[in-house]
Amino acid sequence: MLSAGHYQILSTLSREGSKSRTELSQLLSVSKATISGLVRDLLDQGILCEQELVFGVGRPSVSLAVRADAAWFIGISMQDDPVVLVLTDLHGTVHARLELPRLTNTDDCVAALADTVHRLRQTVGATKDRLSGIGIALPGFVSRDRRTCVACTALGWRNINIGSAMAELTGLPTWVENDAKALILGEELFGPLRGSPDFSMVFVSHGIGCAHIVNGRLLWGNSGGAGEISHAPVTIEGADALPCRCGNKGCLETVASLLAISNSARRQGLPEGAHELTALATNGNLEAVAILHRAGSAMGLATAQLIQMLDPSHVVVMLDTSLRNGVYGHALLHEAESHTLHRAGTRTMIHFRDFKPDSFAKGAASLAARYFIFGHDDV
Ligand SMILES: [Zn+2]
Repeated sequence: MLSAGHYQILSTLSREGSKSRTELSQLLSVSKATISGLVRDLLDQGILCEQELVFGVGRPSVSLAVRADAAWFIGISMQDDPVVLVLTDLHGTVHARLELPRLTNTDDCVAALADTVHRLRQTVGATKDRLSGIGIALPGFVSRDRRTCVACTALGWRNINIGSAMAELTGLPTWVENDAKALILGEELFGPLRGSPDFSMVFVSHGIGCAHIVNGRLLWGNSGGAGEISHAPVTIEGADALPCRCGNKGCLETVASLLAISNSARRQGLPEGAHELTALATNGNLEAVAILHRAGSAMGLATAQLIQMLDPSHVVVMLDTSLRNGVYGHALLHEAESHTLHRAGTRTMIHFRDFKPDSFAKGAASLAARYFIFGHDDV
């Protein structure tokens, strides 16, 4: 059983990298004797390890780090079909991966997930007692306590307590989160933007997802819908406003998503895949250029709006490789940058990253890892 002091050390080393006992004492304003006692407990439990000697003023000191194999987690992404399950360590490195079809019947789904968790569990072998928890990312609304899927159109679920059902079948604590929110929490804990207090992530897939870290916390909103730019209106209702699967018209998703691009291409008798369409545009097909330019520009305007509203240090946009390198990506960057007010301080950096389904599963695993590191799952 760890105390608040243990968690302070664990979270500091996880956030800031390896530190000596003296540095921890200074950072946490706790006596070195107290730090040494707490560190000894964490070393005895195999959660920390001692690393190289650090030479500075006075005697050289030993730096401490969180052991990657101190705990293992399973992350499940139901963002798309097939479902992806990964097994990660405490540094977020993926050690094993399995897929299974995405089932919508909840009993069948939970049974299949639990069975696959069991198979992944076996790959950990001797250290299976260190498997600490499960995280699930799904494309829908989730309760604030991260147990219940409140609504998920893709799965047809309403008020399904999948967290408790999985915990019961597997014996492991289980957290559930919206896919975009799980993605950004994974980045915040494991990714290059680890510890950044203000940044946003957007992904462009068949739909569009988005989430924000503001002042070091996940932006939740009143009902968990903060960041849902997919259904933000970008076209004033009229001849240009296309119907959206949400029931409204003119949503960002109807213009800028992969689904919107393939629908536009099909209407004009062009290949529907982003890769083929981008290749056509690169070779000068004006219809293909127009489809990708319109879609990328709409995504760029949406990105400019979120920058104007939240002033993040970074916006990570995850999308298909061909889109990022072609007309879509160029139009996105052009519109985002030309519609963002130049501030006196540093500018928001927009990064493109390849869309990888495993990123959602890794984000899901971070939900459980967060509990191990901080002693709570409040973000
Ligand atoms: Zn919509």
